[in-house]
Amino acid sequence: MDEEVEIVMPGLKYLTSESEHICRLCFGSTEQQEVSLEDSVKLQRPYLDESLTFASMFSELGVFEEPSLPQVLCMNCATMTINSYLFKKLCQSSNENWNMSKKPRTE
Ligand SMILES: [Zn+2]
Repeated sequence: MDEEVEIVMPGLKYLTSESEHICRLCFGSTEQQEVSLEDSVKLQRPYLDESLTFASMFSELGVFEEPSLPQVLCMNCATMTINSYLFKKLCQSSNENWNMSKKPRTE
C-alpha cells in the first residue's frame, strides 16, 4: 500500500462508522490503547503548573475543533501533543523571563 492509501483507508473507516478507534492526528488505529481529547492531564514544570485537556492543548497548538472527527488519540500522538504544548509554553516563558531580566539600555 502506498502512503496515501494507508491514510485514506482509516479515514474512510471512521467516516463510514466502521471503526471509532482512529487517531485524530496520525490516522493510526487506537484499538489497543487510546486517550480521549477530553482527558485531563496534570502538567508540572518549573515554568508551568496546570491541569488541562488534550482539547485545550489542541486549541493552543492550532488544531481546530471538529466534533465530526475522531475524539481520540493514540499514545504516541498524545505524548507528542503534551511535549509540543510544553515546548510552546517553555518558549513563551523564556521570552518573558529574558524580557524581564533585560537591562534597561537608557542608563
Ligand atoms: Zn496518532
